[in-house]
Amino acid sequence: MRPYEPRKIEKKWQKIWEERGVFRTKGKGKKAYVLEMFPYPSGRIHMGHVRNYTIGDAVARFLRMRGYDVLHPMGWDAFGLPAENAAIKHKIHPAKWTKENIEQMRKQLKDLGFSYDWEREIATCDPEYYKWNQWIFLKMLERGIAYRKKALVNWCPHDETVLANEQVIEGRCWRCGTKVVQKEVPSWFLRITDYAERLLKDLEKLEGKWPHKVIVQQRNWIGRSEGAVIKFKVGSKTIEVFTTRPDTLFGATFLVLAPEHPLTLKLAEEGGKKRETEEFLKKVRSRSTRERGISEEKEGVFLGVFAENPANGKEIPVWTADYVLFEYGTGAIMAVPAHDQRDWEFAKRYGLEIVPVVVPEEGWDFEKGAYEGRGKLINSGEFDGLDSETAKRKITEWLKEKGLGDFKVTYRLRDWNVSRQRYWGTPIPVVYCERCGTVPVPEEELPVLLPTDVEFTGKGNPLAGSEEFVNTDCPRCGGPAKRETDTMDTFFDSSWYFLRFCDPKNGKEPFSKEEVKKWMPVDIYIGGIEHAVLHLLYARFFQKFLKDLGLVDDDEPFEKLITQGMVLKRWVSVGKLLQHFGLTEDDDIEKLLEKLKEVG
Ligand SMILES: [Zn+2]
Ligand SMILES: [Zn+2]
Repeated sequence: MRPYEPRKIEKKWQKIWEERGVFRTKGKGKKAYVLEMFPYPSGRIHMGHVRNYTIGDAVARFLRMRGYDVLHPMGWDAFGLPAENAAIKHKIHPAKWTKENIEQMRKQLKDLGFSYDWEREIATCDPEYYKWNQWIFLKMLERGIAYRKKALVNWCPHDETVLANEQVIEGRCWRCGTKVVQKEVPSWFLRITDYAERLLKDLEKLEGKWPHKVIVQQRNWIGRSEGAVIKFKVGSKTIEVFTTRPDTLFGATFLVLAPEHPLTLKLAEEGGKKRETEEFLKKVRSRSTRERGISEEKEGVFLGVFAENPANGKEIPVWTADYVLFEYGTGAIMAVPAHDQRDWEFAKRYGLEIVPVVVPEEGWDFEKGAYEGRGKLINSGEFDGLDSETAKRKITEWLKEKGLGDFKVTYRLRDWNVSRQRYWGTPIPVVYCERCGTVPVPEEELPVLLPTDVEFTGKGNPLAGSEEFVNTDCPRCGGPAKRETDTMDTFFDSSWYFLRFCDPKNGKEPFSKEEVKKWMPVDIYIGGIEHAVLHLLYARFFQKFLKDLGLVDDDEPFEKLITQGMVLKRWVSVGKLLQHFGLTEDDDIEKLLEKLKEVG
């Protein structure tokens, strides 16, 4: 018997596959689109990739053998931060670094013998690809889906540069160790919130086809909540708050504004607390919102003014505190310490009043903490005795009649900040003209190319330092103008690449409608569970936007989804896990999974 010699045998067949183009689409038979999430070209294929691609490859080969016409492409999610970090550290241009990595990884994938149609290969850093990012962006701008506003970013005062979350290590700059501060800069946003209801509703169509937990994660991320918006008078001003618990309005004993709320400083000035408040704001700004969200000690300052509780006319103090985030709701809350644990802790710390207005049948000790459940109303005037659900409706109706509030649905989902103050991404196709203001680059001038006269020093945005790039003529009046120097979040690139794979060489449009009609939706999409929220949500959003443009037919891009956990880097940690749960290696894997579920 001859020994199996993979090096010889596999090479032989891989060569024959390539020569005969056996993995190309055939143009006959029922279509099947099998797609694995395309990789970031970090330089080498790791075990997580291999697992993902092996699953996709098995499915693609199986379907081919069953007579399907299979589209099974591969490409590169090639823009992003690591290339730029490498440029700073090793003085190698991001384009060169990325290209070399792609070559290396393509070779590895070919050695593994995966059945890709390599003629459809794309890399998002190619101008032929990112030109269409820019085109889609312009369409979004036209329709008011893209807009510009100020946003908080991580800022290194020493390098004078914006840092990504992953460049902030324990509150300090990854490069120079300076303490990172929060700073407001103008940024481009996509109005994904306009699509919140559709993104939520269409999840129903995916039930049974996508892993249930991914659907749940998407639903939670969108975070629809029904409640009321309530107006509180503060002197001559009105502050609006959103609450899901209007039934607890009589128990609102203070208001809290987020530190960034535009009225915070103004009210402090009126209340004679300007100095304390400014000091407090400075302190808050030195911490990221993430840190603020998890901090144990809630801290705040009394602004020296009072608001009127619209339910009972009571004067209640107005505070600002770190635990209220400006990005959520209206940036102000009515604090009901008897029924919200965070408000309770804050009230205890600063000696504020705690008035119970909802009690469970079995009673509650409000000295020990807040009661956040449902119950019967007390201390609530004419609403006493109602159950929480009825009271929510009745109190909101009552506020509405008086013009003091209304029913409202809100979402946890925020608009998507796509601006990155970095080089290695798609330039945002906009120029600023002194005379005309913000002017979109005309379609026929796309792509706006990344310049080559760029230095990577780690200081500032490299694009802003490129004379060749920044200075341009205004497309409208011909006068001198400056280019936008922000580039796009790389999630933009990966939000529609599956459409480009249907028609990867199209030079006239992002893809032809016919090709997309033929291949979409992706029948089986395979990728890491770490993309369960953002990538999948953004891709679904793009699909819906492109449907509104009339370019695609389907509401959802991915018919069936298979997600993979991450391959553990150190197997030793599995041993430790088993030990922790009192299991041995002979126990069924299900047992471990159950234990893990229990602890979340
Ligand atoms: Zn720094
Ligand atoms: Zn102009």
